Amino acid sequence: MTNIAFIGLGNMGGPMAENLIKAGHSLTVYDLNKDVLDAAVKAGAKSANSAISALTNANVVISMLPNGSIVKSLFTGKNGLINHLSKDVLVIDSSTIAADDARYVAQACKAKGISMIDAPVSGGTAAAQAGTLTFICGGEAEDFDKAKPILDAMGKNIFHAGASGAGQVAKICNNMLLAIHMIGSAEALNMGTRQGLDAGVLSEIMKASSGNNWSLQVYNPFPGVMPNVPSSNDYNGGFMVNLMSKDLGLAQELASKSKSPIPLGSAAGQLFEMHKYNGEGSKDFSSILKMLQE
Ligand code: NAD
Repeated sequence: MTNIAFIGLGNMGGPMAENLIKAGHSLTVYDLNKDVLDAAVKAGAKSANSAISALTNANVVISMLPNGSIVKSLFTGKNGLINHLSKDVLVIDSSTIAADDARYVAQACKAKGISMIDAPVSGGTAAAQAGTLTFICGGEAEDFDKAKPILDAMGKNIFHAGASGAGQVAKICNNMLLAIHMIGSAEALNMGTRQGLDAGVLSEIMKASSGNNWSLQVYNPFPGVMPNVPSSNDYNGGFMVNLMSKDLGLAQELASKSKSPIPLGSAAGQLFEMHKYNGEGSKDFSSILKMLQE
C-alpha cells in the first residue's frame, strides 16, 4: 500500500483515483470542485481542503489537471507544492501539457531533490474507469520503475518513452492522429448517411475494410451506433472539445519547434477551434460530427 495524494478528480482523475483505492492504496484527494471531492470520499478516499494539506504522509503525488499553466502554478507557483514535498516523494503528472512545461516542473522538482515523471494517458474515460489506460512516461528510468506498480493499478499498457518531456511529446503525436481519424470517420459517416446508408452498417463495413480505426472501433461519433459512448449521450462526458483544442495547439507548437509539417493536424486544430467557438467546448470531441451535419 502506498500513501498517495491525488490532485484533480475530473472525468479522468475521478475514476483513476477509484482504481487506486480498489488496488488497496490509501488516497488523500483534492479538487477545486466539491462534488467530485465528495464522490471520491464515497469511494473511500480522504479529502483534503487544499493541495498542500493533501500531501501529509504522501509517498507519491499524482496530478490530473486541465493544462500546463495550472500544473506549473500548482507545483512551482507561489507557495507551490515543491516547497512542501520531502525528497523521497515521487511526483507523477498525468495531465496532458506541453513537453516544455513538463520539463520545467521536473527541473524545478530536481533542484529540490524531488523526482518527477510526466505520465500522460491515452484511452479516454471508459479506459480510466476500466483501469486499462495507456500511460506514456518521460523521465529517469529509476523513477519510471518506481511509478510502474502504481500506474499498473490504473492502466494496461505502461510505456517509458524517454527522458523528461518525452511522454508528452508521444502523447501529443497520438492525440493529433486521434483528432485526424475522428474527423475523417465523422466525414465518412456523414457523407454515407446523407446517401441513405445506415450509420451502423456503414461503420461495420469500414471497420472490416481499410478505413478501420480506433474512432470507429470504440468511439463511434454517430449517435446510436454504439452504446456507452458520448455520441449516444448527447456528446456528454468523455474528452472535451476544449481539451482536444488545447492538444492540437500543443501539436502546432511542437511542429513549429521541430520544423515538422502537419497540414492535417493544423486543419484539425482549426476545425476544433471553430467548433469550440460555436459553443461546443464542453461537449465530447466526437461531436465534431455535428458541425459537419450542420
Ligand atoms: P476535467 O476538466 O474533467 O478535470 C480536471 C479537474 O481538475 C476538475 O475536476 C477541476 O476542478 C480540477 N482542477 C482544476 N484546477 C485545479 C486546481 N488548481 N487544483 C485542484 N483541482 C483543480 O478534465 P479531464 O477530462 O479529467 O482531463 C484531465 C487531463 O487529462 C487533461 O490534461 C486532459 O487533456 C487529459 N486527458 C483527458 C482525457 C479524456 O478523455 N477526458 C483523455 C486523455 C487525457
